[in-house]
Amino acid sequence: MENLYKLSAFEIREKILKGEVKSEDLVQKIFERIEKIDSNIGSFVSLRKEKALQEARTIDEKIKNGEKVGELAGVPVAIKDNMVSEGDKTTACSKILSNYTGIYDGTVVKKLKEADAIIIGITNMDEFAMGSTTKTSIHHITRNPWDNERVPGGSSGGAAASIAAQEAYISLGSDTGGSIRQPASFCGVVGMKPTYGRVSRYGLMAFASSLDQIGPIAKKVEDIALAMNVIAGPDDYDATVVNCEVPDYTQFLNQDIKGMKIGVPKEYFIDGINPEVRKIMDSSLEKFKELGVEIVEVSLPHTKYAVPTYYVIAPAEASSNLARFDGVRYGYRSENIENINDLYINSRSEGFGDEVKRRIMIGTYVLSAGFYDAYFKKAQKVRAKIKDDFEKAFENVDIIFTPVSPTTAFRLDDKKTPIELYLEDIFTISANLAGIPGISIPAGKVEGLPVGIQLLGKPFGEGELIKAGSAFEKVRGEWELPELD
Ligand code: GLN
Repeated sequence: MENLYKLSAFEIREKILKGEVKSEDLVQKIFERIEKIDSNIGSFVSLRKEKALQEARTIDEKIKNGEKVGELAGVPVAIKDNMVSEGDKTTACSKILSNYTGIYDGTVVKKLKEADAIIIGITNMDEFAMGSTTKTSIHHITRNPWDNERVPGGSSGGAAASIAAQEAYISLGSDTGGSIRQPASFCGVVGMKPTYGRVSRYGLMAFASSLDQIGPIAKKVEDIALAMNVIAGPDDYDATVVNCEVPDYTQFLNQDIKGMKIGVPKEYFIDGINPEVRKIMDSSLEKFKELGVEIVEVSLPHTKYAVPTYYVIAPAEASSNLARFDGVRYGYRSENIENINDLYINSRSEGFGDEVKRRIMIGTYVLSAGFYDAYFKKAQKVRAKIKDDFEKAFENVDIIFTPVSPTTAFRLDDKKTPIELYLEDIFTISANLAGIPGISIPAGKVEGLPVGIQLLGKPFGEGELIKAGSAFEKVRGEWELPELD
């Protein structure tokens, strides 16, 4: 059983299917590992120990009896604390939902269970997925497995850390403006935000409904393909999921990418990128050239408006989505109530953290009668331009190459202002505004900290990203995750 945690989901799955490894033993070992190392990392907010072991036993039994099993049979996976799972506490890492237990399985959770994956636990995140540090969780902070004095990124920081710490094989995150890709980059793992409308959001606690998308985080691109096979596809409970065919994503692995055209947007290579991060981008492009790829300069002229546009639209949608948490129907209710106004005001004032309140206030303001045209409507128009930029660029190239973040993981005690943090999202949020898919893949290290490259694709072009990503991994070479024990 030595070092099984180092394997990819793809590899461990083979071993389970062949009967070389029993899922129950594996799950047991994974929990031992989590008990040993997670107090230093804090990837998880809760574990499903008894349930997971029971589920693993059932899968082992099925395999032993030669019954048909799902695509992730017996593989330990984790979900983010904003994905509803029946009978499990799901809190969005907020006080306002600290007592909430899921009463149904959200679609991705249902699909994981149908694929016979073993959900071992629920991972930490920024409150309501608003943030890029995982420091705003009501439960605890998460530390970067590469350096415990640094953030893992966010908001899916627990999910990315759980993979970097080799505590799970696939971890689902959600990405509204970069929350899968940025923590994946900071933690040296792979993370994909699928096209808007590729994966159901049913059972995902909404942050900004027109931007949110669930996606996988894992050690290798092959695991992303496997996870996408399970979670993608139409859903009767989410009308925004597009009813188009889901390919077998594993067919894009280990392909020749000679002749592929990769666009490099000039607006993304700006001052302000850490020069060492920049060097990794340049050397990664060289590696793509070795693969016979053609590198083409493209222009995305509205890039500079992406951050302000996102920080109008996302808070506007959040203020509307979060109106349901009123202390009446479910969630936290203040004890300090004398009348109906107190009930709403005190429950919300006590139940939400500062960043969530900040966004509710911004959102309410930009949607208010007097300012709607100046802010929200304007932002929607700029969003359309950002989307047009990508459409034009994709007329000439197959995928687009960019950094994920201008920096490596910042220090936990780094007191960045909200605006400074918002500006860090510059390379990830355009993909959400345009609805296109993006993947972050580890490419190198700066002072011992991982740096990822980002590949962006055409709508529903996840396969091309997997193809290019899998080819890149080969020229990049082996990628070791930190030893933690
Ligand atoms: N960092 C971004 C924000 O704070 C992205 C969050 C996300 O993708 N959920 O909004």
